[in-house]
Amino acid sequence: MLRVFQKDILDPKQFVVTLELVPGRESTGRSVDTVIGIAKDAFADGRISAVSITDNPGGNPSLSPDAIGYRIFSIGMDVIVHFTCRDMNRVGMESRALQLAMMGMKNILALTGDYSGKGFGGQGAPVFDLDSVNLQIMLRMIGERINAAGDPDAFFTGCAVSPFKWTEGECVAQYAKLNRKLAAGAQFVITQLGYDARKFQELIHIQRHMDLKVPTMGSVYVLTPRAAQIMKQGKIPGVVVTDALLKTVQKEWSNKNQGRTAAIERSARLGAVLQGLGYRGIHIGGIHRDFSTVGKILDRMAQIKDDWREFLPQFNDTQIRGFYAFRESSAVSVSTPVFGHYHPPVTIMDRLLYFLMRRFHNIFFTFNSPLAPIFQILCRKLDKSKTSQRFVNIVEHIIKHLLLGCLQCGDCAIQHVGFLCPESGCPKHTRNGACGGSRDGMCEVNPERRCVWFRAHSRLVTDGNVTELCHGCVPPRMWELNNTSSWLNFHLHRDHQSNGGEIAKFCRQTQCRLMPHDKKNLS
Ligand code: SF4
Repeated sequence: MLRVFQKDILDPKQFVVTLELVPGRESTGRSVDTVIGIAKDAFADGRISAVSITDNPGGNPSLSPDAIGYRIFSIGMDVIVHFTCRDMNRVGMESRALQLAMMGMKNILALTGDYSGKGFGGQGAPVFDLDSVNLQIMLRMIGERINAAGDPDAFFTGCAVSPFKWTEGECVAQYAKLNRKLAAGAQFVITQLGYDARKFQELIHIQRHMDLKVPTMGSVYVLTPRAAQIMKQGKIPGVVVTDALLKTVQKEWSNKNQGRTAAIERSARLGAVLQGLGYRGIHIGGIHRDFSTVGKILDRMAQIKDDWREFLPQFNDTQIRGFYAFRESSAVSVSTPVFGHYHPPVTIMDRLLYFLMRRFHNIFFTFNSPLAPIFQILCRKLDKSKTSQRFVNIVEHIIKHLLLGCLQCGDCAIQHVGFLCPESGCPKHTRNGACGGSRDGMCEVNPERRCVWFRAHSRLVTDGNVTELCHGCVPPRMWELNNTSSWLNFHLHRDHQSNGGEIAKFCRQTQCRLMPHDKKNLS
C-alpha cells in the first residue's frame, strides 16, 4: 500500500510538494498520455509526495480521477483523489468511496465542488446531496468499517479552505467551516490560490488561534495570461487574481520566454514565502504539458528559501478595503483576531424577522422548551390522519414559503443558518457552512444574490451568536421526509435533530475559538 503522502505530510520535518493534474475529456490519446507522462516524471524526480487528480473541474465532464489515478498509482506514484459532492447522491458517493478503498487509493481531498457545468445535451443536474463536512464524516465512518474488517489502513482525508475573502462575513464563514471540517475528520488542508501573503499569514494565525493543529499546504500556480484572465473573471471559484496582477502577468508574457521565466520565479518565491510562514507544503497547479517547469520551481525554491521575508512585499495582491483578521504588524507573532468588531448593515426588516424566528424557534422547536411535551401530544394527534397531516403541511408551507422561500424539504435546518433556508438560499444546499466560491459576499452560482452564509453571519453577529456557525456538525438532510411537515417531523422525532446522532457522534465536539467574545463562549 502506497502511503508516501500521508507519511510525508505527517512528518513535521518534511516540506511536502504535491502536484495537481487535470485530466481531459478523453479516455485515451494525447491528454491521457500527457497526464501519465507528467506523473511518471514526477515519480522519477523524487521530490513530489503525491499527484492530486481533479474531479470534473468547473463541473464539466472529464476522465474520472479514479481511473487515471489508478494508472498513476500503479507506477508507484501516490495519488490524492479529488472527491466532490456535485455529481452523485450519498449512495453513489459511498459506492465510489468503497471502490477507491478497494483500489487502494485512500488519500482523498473532500470538496463541495464547483457548480454543475455543461455535459452531454446541456447543463448537468447539480446534486449536492451531501456537503463537504458530511462527506468527511461519511469517509470516516467507512474508514471505521474498513478497520473493523481487519484493514488498519483507512482513508486519509483532506479539505480545502479559501482565505482569499474580502469581507468579514465570508472570512468567518470559511474559518468556521474549516473548524467543522477538521472536527469531522479532515487530516490535512490545502488552500485555494491567491497572491496575498497577508491572507496566507491570516490562515496560519487563525489556525494557531483556534488551536487547529493540522498540516496545511498552500497553493502555487504557474500563471499564464490566459489562466490569470480566467481567474480574474472569477471563473474558478475561490481563486483570486486582481487586475493589477493580471496586467503584470500580461506584460511579462509579451515575450514568451520571459513570461515563462517570470511565472517560474513567482511560483518559487511564493513557495519560499509559504515555507517561511509555516506552511507544511505547497500544492502546485497549472502544469499541463510537462514536468520540467515543476523541477525548475523546486530548484529555484531551494536556492532562495532563506530569503523568504524579502519576497513578502511582492505578494501584495491585497484589496484596499478588504477585511484582514490581523493587523499588518502581526506578521509573525499571533495577536487576537479582530473578528466581530464590524457590524454589517442589516435591514430593520431582516433584523425583525431574525428576532421573531429565533424567539418562535426557542418556544416551539426546542426539546427543552416547557411547552415541548404539549406540542408533542398535539403533533401526535395531528399526525394520525392524512387530512390533518396535509393541513399542517399546507399551513407550514404557506408561512415558510413567504418568509423563507421554503421548498418543503421536511427536515428543517434554518436554525443552523441564522434562520435562513439552506435549500432555497444556497444552490449547493450546504448545511454546514459556505463553499469557497462566494465573491464580495455574493453567491458563486447567482452572483446577483448574497451568499446565504454571508447573510447568516450578518444576522448572527448583531446578536453575538456567530459561534453557531462552527459548533458541531449538521447531519445531512433526510430525503425520506421530502414534502412532509418539518413541524410534525421535529416533534415526532423524525428529523435530523433526533436521528442524526450517529453522524453527529463522528464530529469531534471541539470548542469553537473563532469568536472569543461571542455570547456562547462567554457563558
Ligand atoms: S430547510 Fe427545508 S423545511 Fe426549512 S425552510 Fe428550508 S426547505 Fe423549508
